This record gives sequence, C-alpha cells and structure tokens, in this order.
Amino acid sequence: MSDKIEVTKEDTKAEVAPAVEEKAEIRKGVNPKTFHYELLPPNDPRVRVPVAPFKDHMLEEYGIKDRKELVSGMFELMHKYGGIGLSAIQVGLPFNMFVAGDHKSVENGLKLAMFNPVIMSSSKEEVLMKEGCLTFPFLFVSITRPRKCLMKYEDENGDLKEAQLDGMMSRVCQHEYDHQAGILMVQKVSKMKLDMAYKKAEKEMDKWKRYQKALKAAQKKSVIKN
Ligand SMILES: [Zn+2]
Repeated sequence: MSDKIEVTKEDTKAEVAPAVEEKAEIRKGVNPKTFHYELLPPNDPRVRVPVAPFKDHMLEEYGIKDRKELVSGMFELMHKYGGIGLSAIQVGLPFNMFVAGDHKSVENGLKLAMFNPVIMSSSKEEVLMKEGCLTFPFLFVSITRPRKCLMKYEDENGDLKEAQLDGMMSRVCQHEYDHQAGILMVQKVSKMKLDMAYKKAEKEMDKWKRYQKALKAAQKKSVIKN
C-alpha cells in the first residue's frame, strides 16, 4: 500500500513486542498460462527482488492483451482490497509497473499508471506518515520520506510523461517505486517499531476475524427467521 496510508503522529509507546516470524516458504512461480490477479503473500520471495524493465511483449506470456487491460486489472484488484496503490510484482508480474490513486480522498481521484518510472528529484523537506501495504494486511508503519518528488514514466499508451507529485500521491508513488527495487516498507523501520506494528496488526486481524464470524452468525440467524 502503497497501498493504505494515513497521516499520523509518531507512536511514542516504548513497549517491545516479539516480531512475528515470517515463514520462509518458497512458492512456485506464477504460471503465466493460469495467471489471475491475486496478491502474493508477504513471505513470497518475489516481492523482495528487483523487477525487470517493462516491455510490452512481456504481457503476451500472461495472456494480457495490452497495457490498458493490465492497468484495469490492477486497479480492480487494488480496489477489492481497499488500497490506493499496487505494484505489478505484488500480483506476481515481474516487471516495472504500478498503479496509484483513483480514490476521492487523494488528489480529487487522480489516477496514475506508471510503467518504468524514475524519480528524477525529490524535495529536501521530509514528512512522517503512516503507511500500509496490500502485501501486509493490517500492518501500518510510520516512515519518513521526501514530501515532493518529480517522476518520469511511460503511461498506459506508452507515452513518456512527467509528474510533479506532492502530498498523498507523492507518498504512494514513492512507496510503489520502492516495490520495483524489491524494497518493502517493513525494511524501512527499526526492529522495535516493526515488532510493535506487527503486534498491533495481529490485534486488528483478530478483531476483523471476530467481526466476520459474528456477521456470519447473524446472517445465519436471519436466514432461519425468514
Ligand atoms: Zn506496498
């Protein structure tokens, strides 16, 4: 996420929680013939490896017609999980591309799809923001990044574009840009902060599971009544 992002003050709690051990399970590669848009789990090694530059012929292998079809599939999955950014590698497509925005709270719904993006320059001014990532459900960490950045990229028509980004869109695009290099938000914070964030994430996940269970039970009851 990047997915999900909210602005926040730095967490000042000093408790230390044990980190959640990620199982180092190696999955087989995405089968191009049966490719469908779904998120890779956080322990998939592919999300930690830099991607190759995007070239249009790469899409054929995955049965994707063109850039536009890819962009629409990516946005659809991003919305399914409530994100505001998603990189191709997060769904197992090993090339340099991401989508960002398309949310009313971000730059009036500005929608960007960047192929082979490059950060040309960034502001000296930095901001601290809480970031989430669709690869890490319920996990949020505060990260300092430059406030503005100038990005050069190819759009969904293959045209070379430049975007001067600020605020949330700048943040999302910098997060997604990191994904292209196999860099994840969890690598950008101290172990202590990450441990705390994982502890919080576990609690939120438990809450969500309890809510889903209660919801199902309520639905069952109402079916019986009807
Ligand atoms: Zn992410």
